[in-house]
Amino acid sequence: MDLADLAWPAVAALPKTTPVVFPVAALEQHGRHMPVFTDSLLLGEVVRRVKQAPVAARCLFAPLQWLGNSHHHLDFPGTLSASARAYLDLLKDLAGCFLAHGFTRVVFVNGHGGNAVPLQQALFELKQEHRDRRDLLLLSLTYWDAAGSPGQAVPGLVQKQMGHACEWETSMILRLAPHLVVGDLAAVPEVPHGKAFGPGYRAWVMPDRSEPGHIGNPAAATAEKGEALFAFFAAGVAAYLDRTVTWDGAAWDY
Ligand SMILES: [Zn+2]
Repeated sequence: MDLADLAWPAVAALPKTTPVVFPVAALEQHGRHMPVFTDSLLLGEVVRRVKQAPVAARCLFAPLQWLGNSHHHLDFPGTLSASARAYLDLLKDLAGCFLAHGFTRVVFVNGHGGNAVPLQQALFELKQEHRDRRDLLLLSLTYWDAAGSPGQAVPGLVQKQMGHACEWETSMILRLAPHLVVGDLAAVPEVPHGKAFGPGYRAWVMPDRSEPGHIGNPAAATAEKGEALFAFFAAGVAAYLDRTVTWDGAAWDY
């Protein structure tokens, strides 16, 4: 079900255990070869496919939120970003509105790496504001993490992990909107992920890591890989939503 299509009595009539799904993405630079709306286009397509799965009839989908936390890309023109604290409040309000409407299950489906930490922090804070509620399910899931590694499911995949405007994302844009890919992909140089003081976390902005703005290997992208990635990720998100529907309303170990 799409929230945007419903009148309020139809929302009021839904079971309060209906998972409310908020797709959240971004508008930010994606290298010289990809459009700034890449994350929103890709998540939109993943969600469009998820909505074709049976579980979608038992979930309420809010419209995609395209403004994300992208301050680490602000050195590149065209990027739009909500600062971290504004974004935390936005996320808390989105979820909080549906808690106020009496709903108990909220699932953010994320399509941008920079949103992941704010999502966890926002839900962490929201839960503390409702600390006596055992029936609340407050979740965030980044779509490319939904089903583990796509390496087995996608023939010829080179990258082991998601990058930025990389083999994975470029493949999916080649599948979805090839006219938006700029220039000769074969000439786009690989930018390795690097060690980055792992296993610790090193704070970064994109110019620390990449002059063109991408991370990974866009030259390895194909539309065929893009189709396989979309299918793999959409199935993973749909399976995860199945868990949010069948949860008994109390169990931690689920
Ligand atoms: Zn991206």
